Amino acid sequence: MYEELLNKQVVDLKPSGIRKFFDLANTKKGVISLGVGEPDFATPWNICEAAIYSIKSKKTHYTANKGLPELRKEVSLYLKKQYDLDYSAEKNMIITVGGSEAIDLSLRAVLEKGDEVILLQPCYVAYEPAVLLAGGIPKFIELKSENEFKLTKEQLQAAITDKTKAIVLNFPSNPTGGVMTHEDYEPLIPIIKDHNLIVISDEIYAELCYDGKHCSPANFDEIKDLVILISGFSKAFAMTGWRLGYLCANETFIAHINKIHQYVIMSAPTAAQYGAIEGLRNGQKYVDEMVEQYKLRRNYIVSGFNRIGLKTHMPNGAFYIFPDIRKTGLTSVEFCERLLEEQNVACVPGSAFGNAGEGFIRVSYAYSIEEIKIAIEKIALFMEQFK
Ligand code: PMP
Repeated sequence: MYEELLNKQVVDLKPSGIRKFFDLANTKKGVISLGVGEPDFATPWNICEAAIYSIKSKKTHYTANKGLPELRKEVSLYLKKQYDLDYSAEKNMIITVGGSEAIDLSLRAVLEKGDEVILLQPCYVAYEPAVLLAGGIPKFIELKSENEFKLTKEQLQAAITDKTKAIVLNFPSNPTGGVMTHEDYEPLIPIIKDHNLIVISDEIYAELCYDGKHCSPANFDEIKDLVILISGFSKAFAMTGWRLGYLCANETFIAHINKIHQYVIMSAPTAAQYGAIEGLRNGQKYVDEMVEQYKLRRNYIVSGFNRIGLKTHMPNGAFYIFPDIRKTGLTSVEFCERLLEEQNVACVPGSAFGNAGEGFIRVSYAYSIEEIKIAIEKIALFMEQFK
């Protein structure tokens, strides 16, 4: 009865497939989880201290809507230094409550009711609901494991209609770990430009690129002003709980997007912003150390999974592998449910990330090598029955 009082779009939203699965995993004892999408490292202590000091110094009020000028300046310098991107601290940037707010802001600012948005499946679970809530219609491109989950120009061309307004990209990708290089992007650029397609580029895993440097669609001058770049501190700086991200775009986009941010959020958490300034000024060595660890774990887990008969390509980014489970004859939900039941190991069914994820599971390696080792031994026992 109370449901009838609510917005139908909200009532019809499906709960996240990840959450549903973890509620199940949490009710069991002694479960080894390779499921969670967040760093196992603690936030570097210099960041914590800077935030604590800001509170001690009574910096506990709102900041400027777009975020502290010093933080925007540091983000601007960082993007230039790391990725050769030019975004001005004054005109091209908003500090947000995580990448999550930035995703929501961009879709709401861009979409009219009935506009189509291209999503690349398997994809991060928040994109489809965010498009729907903004009145848009999600249109899916299925990325293929044989293409290392990259987007091709044929796929993009075929998905564009006269209603297409935007495309959401996420490289390095959650859940596949796939990346797009400069060469991979090149053939897409004329298509994006010809159709004036807005590119919402979620680059939250940019720092976690293991072989070669991250490339952003905003690195292409021809389309830079069509790109809304989203990133943040959650993954690279191990700051998921601080809720801090940023959104960069052309001056006009920022002026309008900032109105939504102003009215809905006011400003991102102040202590977190002071912590992030310290992270950008003096935290690179900690980021580099964490990335080095992720790379070691990636190499270890990929070879482990292939050894026990679960075909896994070597992903170049993020902290996920996306093994192919089709040889077991199980659906990804059946595989994960039985693995949990029989061996107490939790992974996420690929279908949680859209139909294109069926036949795969998402395994996070944001865990210690010791935990990964035990999990692989248990999965090997589970796989015995499928020989
Ligand atoms: N984008 C992707 C692809 C993610 O995986 C996540 C977090 N799991 C987010 C955005 C949200 O990150 P934040 O903590 O910055 O809101």
